[in-house]
Amino acid sequence: MTHRVLIAAELKSLLEPSQLSDLEITWLTARERTPKGDWEAIVPLLSRWVGGTELKHLPSLRIVANVAAGYNNVDVVAAEMRKVIVTNTPGVLTEATADLTWALILATARRLVEGVDLVRSGKWTGWHPEQLLGLELRGRTLGLFGAGRIGQAVGRRAPAFGLRLLYSARSPKPEFEQETGAARVDTSRLLAESDIVSLHVPSSPETTGIINRETLARMKRGAILINTSRGDLIREEALAKALELGQLGAAGLDVYAEEPTIHPRLLAAPRTVLLPHIGSATGGTRRKMAAIAIENVQAVLNGKPPLTPVYGQV
Ligand code: NAP
Repeated sequence: MTHRVLIAAELKSLLEPSQLSDLEITWLTARERTPKGDWEAIVPLLSRWVGGTELKHLPSLRIVANVAAGYNNVDVVAAEMRKVIVTNTPGVLTEATADLTWALILATARRLVEGVDLVRSGKWTGWHPEQLLGLELRGRTLGLFGAGRIGQAVGRRAPAFGLRLLYSARSPKPEFEQETGAARVDTSRLLAESDIVSLHVPSSPETTGIINRETLARMKRGAILINTSRGDLIREEALAKALELGQLGAAGLDVYAEEPTIHPRLLAAPRTVLLPHIGSATGGTRRKMAAIAIENVQAVLNGKPPLTPVYGQV
């Protein structure tokens, strides 16, 4: 029996024909609106909103298999009410995203982009004892806001750089603490004591706007903010202002509130390293993400439990 499914067209080259057996596929490009019809599954990218209207237009839908660890592009409450299963792709992107987080930590601490720009400008006049002075990591404090899969993977890389580790999460992580020497603290202490604050909580009603004028003011003067989680955790105008005033030392961001638009004031702010949402962008990881999404679809459409359902994760 074949099943009708909608799959993001951008995934085509990441999938093998053998993974797609028994599926009658409609490939959907990012520019196309979600159509109305009797499809049983949709495999969207995180840029496609799947809410009440889309669910209403797809009355036969049984699963939304999101190709991301985050799922803030899906109205999970509306889906649950319709008994539509929602799945994500956690785990396989943990190490790639942790690596990219470290790329941002090092790039902001040691002013990499400014250095590259200076060399490219042709205005570099040679070694100077006070040129592009940055932050030495050894002995500093890294604060992880969120210590799930990615937060912990970032933390496990920290001892090699001689960093002291703090973290905030809803529940304690004794094994992580034992392995890395990390200490669990409340958010106020995390913000006040960290030289680098790295965000690893999902986007949710409790975390949206968690980095705002008031919380930025509680950070150490000159501290670095890193975000590889979701853009809406940060009030971008407040962040731009903190950078303009030198209250914050630097910001390394991979994600934005209104992707692909970046707040113009943030785009113009000093001491930023801004990446185009490439946390999980390695070939192997992207293939595994696409594979898990399709495995979830195959399981659900064949009457089996999904591999990675999102209910109960937040
Ligand atoms: P995860 O394993 O579910 O970890 C989430 C962490 O956040 C957990 O430690 C959780 O605490 C904590 N948390 C949740 N809500 C909280 C709250 N209200 N206050 C304090 N802590 C809270 O997720 P993950 O796999 O590490 O991924 C984290 C996020 O990264 C995803 O949601 C996604 O948005 C983002 N991401 C981005 C990229 C990218 O391309 N840039 C790639 C992958 C993922 P408990 O452990 O106590 O529950």
